[in-house]
Amino acid sequence: MHYFVSRGRLLNFVGWTEHDEWNREDWTDRATVARALTAFAGWHEHVRTIIAAAETCFIWALFDRDPLPRWSVGRTTLLGDACHPMYPFMGQGAAMAIEDGAALAACLRTIGDPTEALLRYERLRLPRVTRLQAMSRANKTRFHLRDGPAQQARDAEWAKAGDRSPNALRWLYEYDPGDVEPVTM
Ligand SMILES: Cc1cc2nc3c(=O)[nH]c(=O)nc-3n(C[C@H](O)[C@H](O)[C@H](O)COP(=O)(O)OP(=O)(O)OC[C@H]3O[C@@H](n4cnc5c(N)ncnc54)[C@H](O)[C@@H]3O)c2cc1C
Repeated sequence: MHYFVSRGRLLNFVGWTEHDEWNREDWTDRATVARALTAFAGWHEHVRTIIAAAETCFIWALFDRDPLPRWSVGRTTLLGDACHPMYPFMGQGAAMAIEDGAALAACLRTIGDPTEALLRYERLRLPRVTRLQAMSRANKTRFHLRDGPAQQARDAEWAKAGDRSPNALRWLYEYDPGDVEPVTM
């Protein structure tokens, strides 16, 4: 994946390779451009030109976690990656953290008792982010299929628009996290 950042001054490139083992949790480890080029040997020259132009490379792992059964205890709760880390393959991790913030504010505004407000927030948010965690996990496999029958079936499905159509993702993009129904408790 690559995209411009810093008002188009810089290009960010993220490459994904699979490993059987990983023993660090740091995201500030440096990697060399040579290592990145080796990982993408044989790829299109555009990809390799982007990698070769890098001044610095970082290397880190993507970790997956199962959904949590609850986020709140009394007057304490969690939001964002702290309670629902997900693979980046729906591009929704930060979006869900922002939605959490809006929903939390709306619940606290609407419901007088803070403990009840946090429980309401959790009940509103958990099913939605759990669904996205599952979709991101499924896309980890779907986006990285090697050439073959499974890849061809996937491409045929996508060619029909299928689950990537705007209609199919309406539930995701038309959602208003600040819209918490008035609750009387
Ligand atoms: C390659 C990649 C691509 C992504 N692409 C997208 C995308 O396109 N769209 C999208 O929506 N999301 C994307 N995400 C996910 C997104 O970056 C995260 O979901 C989001 O940053 C989570 O926000 P957060 O506030 O919950 O946690 P974080 O952004 O991790 O913020 C937590 C903060 O707490 C600080 N902290 C930790 N411990 C302490 C402490 N003890 N005291 C004080 N501060 C502390 C940390 O330094 C950090 O600044 C992507 C992630 C990756 C890795």
